[in-house]
Amino acid sequence: MQKFKNLVPVFVALTIFILGQIYIVRQVWMQKDEVFSLRYGSVSKEAIETFAAYDSYYGFKEAYYLLDNLALLYIQKSRALLNTEDSAIFARDIRENFTKYLTEDQRLSEYLSKYFDKLGLEKKIKPLIYVNYIDLIDIQENIRVYKAPLSELKKQQSNTSILVYTFNSEENNFKISFDYYIDVANKEKIILREISLILILSILSFIIISAIYIATMKSYLEEKRLSSLKTDFINNMTHELKTPLSTITVAGKTLKHDSVIGDKKKIIETANLIGKQSLHLNELINLILEISMWERTQFQVERKNVNIEELIKDISDNFKNGCGSECNFTEEYKLNGAIADVDILYFTTMINNLLNNAVKYSKNTPEVRLEAHTENGDIIIKVIDNGIGISRSEQKNIFDKFYRVSTGNIHQSKGLGLGLYYVKKIAEAHDGSVGVSSKKGKGSVFIVSIPKTI
Ligand code: ADP
Repeated sequence: MQKFKNLVPVFVALTIFILGQIYIVRQVWMQKDEVFSLRYGSVSKEAIETFAAYDSYYGFKEAYYLLDNLALLYIQKSRALLNTEDSAIFARDIRENFTKYLTEDQRLSEYLSKYFDKLGLEKKIKPLIYVNYIDLIDIQENIRVYKAPLSELKKQQSNTSILVYTFNSEENNFKISFDYYIDVANKEKIILREISLILILSILSFIIISAIYIATMKSYLEEKRLSSLKTDFINNMTHELKTPLSTITVAGKTLKHDSVIGDKKKIIETANLIGKQSLHLNELINLILEISMWERTQFQVERKNVNIEELIKDISDNFKNGCGSECNFTEEYKLNGAIADVDILYFTTMINNLLNNAVKYSKNTPEVRLEAHTENGDIIIKVIDNGIGISRSEQKNIFDKFYRVSTGNIHQSKGLGLGLYYVKKIAEAHDGSVGVSSKKGKGSVFIVSIPKTI
């Protein structure tokens, strides 16, 4: 959790950015929606005015005619009504029937649709009638049968329909006021098309910002990982350097001892020990120097054509001598005199590192096997052991600089976490690669592949 703490501001910034984008797109959408309604509303009004010039009924002529007869029927019926409950049902029935006739038996919608089409606007529209009030005109008394409640009116105004016109008309048997709305089909699609550029830009900027965020986070985590590996390395290195140094210090003190001063054999033995430890110290320092050199300059190899089988046999002979009876070593080569372009020194270091690790990370008596063969123009070298193995999750890290597989904080065997890093660098410098196949507790197979010349 701690390592993500520094990322909180970035996360907050990203969230604010996303919310900002959503807000902008929403505002643009609402604005476009308003403009859309205004455009269709004003075009409709313009159309109705033109229509009114030659049709005084605004296209509701048929409906009014039918409603006049209907109103008469209702007036007769209304005289028989006594209680208010019945009259409420009666009023609703009138309103529904009036709405139905006004919606279905009119020609205004058809006319508007043609008008829109001529102007290149969307012609698919649906009419909606909202009655404000209906007064049935009885000769005996004027009866108001329907007055829309305020809440219902508010509801109508808030939906997506566009108010076109409020019609008021007085016929023989009724007086009416109603609003004529239209619903334009594909309204959302049309608006979406209009704001598509903004939408695309917004999505694009979101993708770019997210990509930058992910890249920053990745490099941050990588930095963190490297820094902890470096700390591990420094601890290991200090330990590695301290061991020969303390041996030399103790040996130096021993030489001053009275009992040793006269003992020539002991002096030579101690001097040899000091020599051996100094050599080891020197090797360690050289290794570190070399690594830092690699970091600064491009890795340079001096390659020449070499008979690989001969070279590998040299390396394995040396290894066998060094290993002695401590390990069971077997080998098998099917190289048919293959030649490769290699730097002898680095190539030797690479194979030695793998062979030494095979012994170092073993349990009981190490069984080490070295194999080499040619395959599709490549030389494949395998170092096989029956050691402690490497879990799948660790396998991807072991070639990293300073990386060591640890059990808790304690490393069972000494090392700086540089051996396999070297192996990978050397293989790549030879245009090759290195891989591992291993199972924890079952042993490992390291496979180096480099291109052959002949
Ligand atoms: P070092 O040996 O100094 O730790 P290396 O780079 O050679 O560094 O190896 C990195 C890690 O990979 C080691 O710490 C060890 O855990 C693991 N490893 C390398 N070779 C083997 C092997 N043959 N078997 C099991 N584990 C291995």
